[in-house]
Amino acid sequence: MNGGHPPQVAIIGAGVAGLACGRRLSASGLQPKLFDKGRRPGGRLASREIGTPDGPRFVDHGAQFFTARGAAFAEEVAAFVHQNKISPWSFRAQMRDRNGQRPLPDDTGFVGVPCMNAWAAELAKDLDVASNSEVKAILSRGSRYALRLRNGSMSEQFDAVILAIPAPQAADLLADSAPDLAAAARTAQLAPCWAAWCALPSQPAPAFDALRLDDEGPLAWIARQDGGSADPESIWLIHASAAWSREHLEDDPGMVAASLVTALQAELKLDVRPRLIGTHRWRHALVERALGVSFQWDADLHLGTCGDWHLGPRVELAWQSGHELAEAVLSSLAVGG
Ligand SMILES: Cc1cc2nc3c(=O)[nH]c(=O)nc-3n(C[C@H](O)[C@H](O)[C@H](O)COP(=O)(O)OP(=O)(O)OC[C@H]3O[C@@H](n4cnc5c(N)ncnc54)[C@H](O)[C@@H]3O)c2cc1C
Repeated sequence: MNGGHPPQVAIIGAGVAGLACGRRLSASGLQPKLFDKGRRPGGRLASREIGTPDGPRFVDHGAQFFTARGAAFAEEVAAFVHQNKISPWSFRAQMRDRNGQRPLPDDTGFVGVPCMNAWAAELAKDLDVASNSEVKAILSRGSRYALRLRNGSMSEQFDAVILAIPAPQAADLLADSAPDLAAAARTAQLAPCWAAWCALPSQPAPAFDALRLDDEGPLAWIARQDGGSADPESIWLIHASAAWSREHLEDDPGMVAASLVTALQAELKLDVRPRLIGTHRWRHALVERALGVSFQWDADLHLGTCGDWHLGPRVELAWQSGHELAEAVLSSLAVGG
């Protein structure tokens, strides 16, 4: 392989799965190269900066908080907590379903400091990540691969390629080079999610900072983004339910924002003009049907897949998928460490 040099690995996608995979490979002495179509790494660990009269504020419009139940991820999280790049999530969170409204079951959660995407930047810090680099094709070059990017340029050659992107996109990219991996990816299912946000007066404050709803309405989750600051305005984040998001997937963002913000105002009983309204459409947001294995790796083709769609709709499971795929790649390519 590659004239005795360490194997060169490409990772397509720099969300938490691709970053976890890259960090594990890198810790063993490899220098993986990551390609991401976004402007910065993180994928669904996503944040927007919003200018307000009280200074810039962040909205986490993808993942809200994450758990660290598994030992390996808990160790990684503890190190970032120590560096103050992650902090425990100390919001008053409630849920409401047909049995009424009550506190969310106790499960320690974590958030990035000062926002989710800032933690993604920390994960990516020592990795070689090419942003604004959408991969359109994986081309075979003997036993190696080259990637064709959206701008038409070709990458250098790699001994192995890992796809850490949502299942439908992985299936498309692997259709020719690894039909079996592509077919498995097509069995996973992800639901869309419309996100919206706006600023509303902080007073009167509701009895919760975040509320998960399961009651047939348009809202699935609403959360204050400041955790009880003394500012006169609070920024609220809204996630629509999967059913509502599917029904309104192609709607005009302005109409979507109007509907979701109106539903939020009704929930908060605040009949005032909202400010700083924004939206984001996640086409592939939350895993509804997972593969049930933590990754795929074809040891003959040197092609693999990781990401949340292997195990379930959580940051922790995406991390686990990427981390465990890296272990398999290292042992398959006989890399020590
Ligand atoms: C609205 C919402 C709420 C959520 N809430 C929570 C929560 O509260 N707690 C929790 O634990 N999880 C939550 N999640 C789920 C969590 O965010 C995901 O499980 C996790 O972030 C997925 O990571 P990933 O690396 O598998 O995929 P992604 O984060 O999607 O990363 C994939 C990356 O691949 C890139 N990409 C895609 N195609 C290409 C291509 N062709 N070429 C190059 N790059 C490409 C994308 O730009 C992206 O950066 C939520 C997700 C959403 C959307």
